[in-house]
Amino acid sequence: MAVLPIRIFGDPALRARAAEVTDFDDVLRRLAGDMMETMRQAHGAGLAANQVGVLKRLFTWQTGEDEHGAVANPVLLESSEETQEGEEGCLSFPGLWYPTRRPLRVRMRVQDVRGEEHEVEGKELLARILLHELDHLNGILFIDHLARHDRKEAMGRIRAGELEHPRPHDHPGAEPPVA
Ligand code: ZN
Repeated sequence: MAVLPIRIFGDPALRARAAEVTDFDDVLRRLAGDMMETMRQAHGAGLAANQVGVLKRLFTWQTGEDEHGAVANPVLLESSEETQEGEEGCLSFPGLWYPTRRPLRVRMRVQDVRGEEHEVEGKELLARILLHELDHLNGILFIDHLARHDRKEAMGRIRAGELEHPRPHDHPGAEPPVA
Protein backbone atom coordinates (compact mmCIF):
# COMPACT_ATOMS: atom_id res chain seq x y z
CA MET A 1 0.00 0.00 0.00
CA ALA A 2 1.13 3.52 -0.68
CA VAL A 3 0.67 6.85 1.03
CA LEU A 4 -0.77 9.31 -1.49
CA PRO A 5 -0.28 13.09 -1.50
CA ILE A 6 -3.32 14.89 -0.05
CA ARG A 7 -4.67 17.81 -2.09
CA ILE A 8 -4.93 21.11 -0.25
CA PHE A 9 -7.71 23.73 -0.60
CA GLY A 10 -7.30 25.54 -3.92
CA ASP A 11 -6.90 22.28 -5.83
CA PRO A 12 -9.79 22.00 -8.34
CA ALA A 13 -10.37 18.30 -7.48
CA LEU A 14 -11.78 19.46 -4.13
CA ARG A 15 -14.55 21.43 -5.85
CA ALA A 16 -15.45 18.76 -8.40
CA ARG A 17 -18.29 16.26 -8.19
CA ALA A 18 -16.86 12.74 -8.18
CA ALA A 19 -18.33 10.13 -10.55
CA GLU A 20 -20.15 6.94 -9.54
CA VAL A 21 -17.94 3.90 -9.05
CA THR A 22 -18.87 1.36 -11.74
CA ASP A 23 -15.94 -1.08 -11.67
CA PHE A 24 -15.48 -2.93 -8.40
CA ASP A 25 -12.13 -4.31 -9.41
CA ASP A 26 -8.58 -4.61 -8.11
CA VAL A 27 -7.83 -1.03 -9.15
CA LEU A 28 -10.62 0.22 -6.85
CA ARG A 29 -9.52 -2.04 -4.00
CA ARG A 30 -5.92 -0.88 -4.33
CA LEU A 31 -7.08 2.75 -4.27
CA ALA A 32 -9.18 2.06 -1.15
CA GLY A 33 -6.16 0.41 0.52
CA ASP A 34 -3.91 3.33 -0.35
CA MET A 35 -6.50 5.80 0.93
CA MET A 36 -6.82 3.89 4.20
CA GLU A 37 -3.03 4.00 4.60
CA THR A 38 -2.93 7.70 3.71
CA MET A 39 -5.75 8.54 6.16
CA ARG A 40 -4.05 6.66 9.00
CA GLN A 41 -0.66 8.17 8.35
CA ALA A 42 -2.27 11.64 8.45
CA HIS A 43 -4.23 10.77 11.66
CA GLY A 44 -7.47 11.46 9.81
CA ALA A 45 -10.93 10.16 10.66
CA GLY A 46 -11.93 10.12 7.00
CA LEU A 47 -10.56 10.66 3.50
CA ALA A 48 -12.43 11.12 0.23
CA ALA A 49 -11.00 10.16 -3.16
CA ASN A 50 -11.20 13.81 -4.31
CA GLN A 51 -8.63 14.59 -1.63
CA VAL A 52 -6.07 12.40 -3.40
CA GLY A 53 -7.09 13.75 -6.80
CA VAL A 54 -9.28 10.82 -7.90
CA LEU A 55 -12.82 11.79 -8.92
CA LYS A 56 -14.55 8.58 -7.84
CA ARG A 57 -17.32 8.31 -5.26
CA LEU A 58 -15.19 6.51 -2.70
CA PHE A 59 -14.16 7.36 0.83
CA THR A 60 -12.52 5.72 3.84
CA TRP A 61 -13.34 6.35 7.48
CA GLN A 62 -12.19 5.28 10.92
CA THR A 63 -13.38 6.00 14.41
CA GLY A 64 -11.05 3.59 16.20
CA GLU A 65 -8.50 0.83 15.72
CA ASP A 66 -11.13 -1.74 14.71
CA GLU A 67 -13.80 0.64 13.47
CA HIS A 68 -13.07 1.56 9.90
CA GLY A 69 -14.26 1.02 6.38
CA ALA A 70 -14.21 1.96 2.72
CA VAL A 71 -17.44 3.15 1.15
CA ALA A 72 -18.43 3.59 -2.50
CA ASN A 73 -21.42 5.42 -3.98
CA PRO A 74 -22.97 6.64 -0.71
CA VAL A 75 -26.59 7.79 -0.85
CA LEU A 76 -28.05 9.75 2.04
CA LEU A 77 -31.29 8.08 3.16
CA GLU A 78 -32.01 10.05 6.30
CA SER A 79 -30.47 12.67 8.52
CA SER A 80 -31.85 13.74 11.88
CA GLU A 81 -33.33 17.14 12.49
CA GLU A 82 -31.51 17.07 15.78
CA THR A 83 -28.06 18.55 15.28
CA GLN A 84 -24.66 18.50 16.95
CA GLU A 85 -22.10 21.24 17.03
CA GLY A 86 -18.43 20.51 17.48
CA GLU A 87 -15.07 21.53 16.14
CA GLU A 88 -14.24 19.95 12.83
CA GLY A 89 -11.16 19.97 10.63
CA CYS A 90 -10.21 18.66 7.22
CA LEU A 91 -7.02 17.06 5.92
CA SER A 92 -7.24 19.49 2.99
CA PHE A 93 -7.16 22.46 5.44
CA PRO A 94 -4.21 21.62 7.70
CA GLY A 95 -4.30 23.44 11.02
CA LEU A 96 -7.84 24.85 10.67
CA TRP A 97 -10.61 23.78 13.04
CA TYR A 98 -13.98 25.48 13.39
CA PRO A 99 -17.29 24.75 15.08
CA THR A 100 -19.42 22.99 12.47
CA ARG A 101 -23.07 22.10 12.87
CA ARG A 102 -24.16 18.69 11.54
CA PRO A 103 -27.10 16.37 11.95
CA LEU A 104 -26.66 14.12 14.99
CA ARG A 105 -27.62 10.90 13.18
CA VAL A 106 -27.53 9.74 9.56
CA ARG A 107 -28.41 6.68 7.56
CA MET A 108 -26.81 5.98 4.17
CA ARG A 109 -27.00 3.30 1.51
CA VAL A 110 -23.47 2.42 0.41
CA GLN A 111 -21.54 -0.20 -1.52
CA ASP A 112 -18.38 -1.90 -0.33
CA VAL A 113 -15.32 -2.35 -2.54
CA ARG A 114 -16.81 -5.57 -3.95
CA GLY A 115 -20.00 -3.83 -4.96
CA GLU A 116 -22.20 -5.34 -2.23
CA GLU A 117 -24.89 -2.99 -0.95
CA HIS A 118 -25.14 -2.14 2.75
CA GLU A 119 -26.87 0.35 4.96
CA VAL A 120 -24.77 2.27 7.44
CA GLU A 121 -26.02 4.26 10.39
CA GLY A 122 -23.91 6.71 12.26
CA LYS A 123 -24.39 9.05 15.15
CA GLU A 124 -22.24 11.73 16.71
CA LEU A 125 -18.66 11.38 15.41
CA LEU A 126 -19.48 8.79 12.74
CA ALA A 127 -22.41 10.89 11.47
CA ARG A 128 -20.09 13.88 11.25
CA ILE A 129 -17.47 11.90 9.30
CA LEU A 130 -19.99 10.29 6.91
CA LEU A 131 -21.51 13.68 6.07
CA HIS A 132 -18.12 15.40 5.74
CA GLU A 133 -17.00 12.70 3.25
CA LEU A 134 -20.26 12.67 1.29
CA ASP A 135 -19.85 16.44 0.95
CA HIS A 136 -16.34 15.97 -0.45
CA LEU A 137 -17.72 13.72 -3.21
CA ASN A 138 -20.03 16.58 -4.19
CA GLY A 139 -17.31 19.24 -4.10
CA ILE A 140 -18.60 20.69 -0.82
CA LEU A 141 -16.11 21.59 1.92
CA PHE A 142 -16.51 22.04 5.67
CA ILE A 143 -15.84 25.78 5.40
CA ASP A 144 -19.12 25.99 3.43
CA HIS A 145 -20.98 25.07 6.65
CA LEU A 146 -19.34 27.62 8.94
CA ALA A 147 -21.01 30.59 10.54
CA ARG A 148 -20.35 33.68 8.46
CA HIS A 149 -17.76 35.24 10.79
CA ASP A 150 -15.85 31.96 11.14
CA ARG A 151 -15.81 31.47 7.39
CA LYS A 152 -14.51 34.99 6.92
CA GLU A 153 -11.77 34.40 9.46
CA ALA A 154 -10.87 31.04 7.87
CA MET A 155 -10.58 32.60 4.40
CA GLY A 156 -8.34 35.33 5.84
CA ARG A 157 -6.06 32.75 7.44
CA ILE A 158 -5.93 30.78 4.19
CA ARG A 159 -5.06 33.89 2.19
CA ALA A 160 -2.32 34.63 4.74
CA GLY A 161 -0.74 31.27 3.84
CA GLU A 162 -1.62 29.35 7.00
CA LEU A 163 -2.39 26.13 5.11
CA GLU A 164 1.25 25.99 4.05
CA HIS A 165 2.41 26.64 7.62
CA PRO A 166 -0.31 25.11 9.77
CA ARG A 167 -0.24 25.96 13.43
CA PRO A 168 -1.04 23.32 16.02
CA HIS A 169 -4.45 23.15 17.65
CA ASP A 170 -4.86 25.30 20.76
CA HIS A 171 -5.34 22.15 22.83
CA PRO A 172 -2.64 19.74 21.70
CA GLY A 173 -3.46 16.12 22.36
CA ALA A 174 -7.18 16.86 22.11
CA GLU A 175 -7.41 17.69 18.42
CA PRO A 176 -10.90 17.49 17.00
CA PRO A 177 -11.38 15.10 14.06
CA VAL A 178 -9.99 15.90 10.63
CA ALA A 179 -11.53 14.15 7.65
ZN1 ZN B 1 -12.22 16.94 4.53
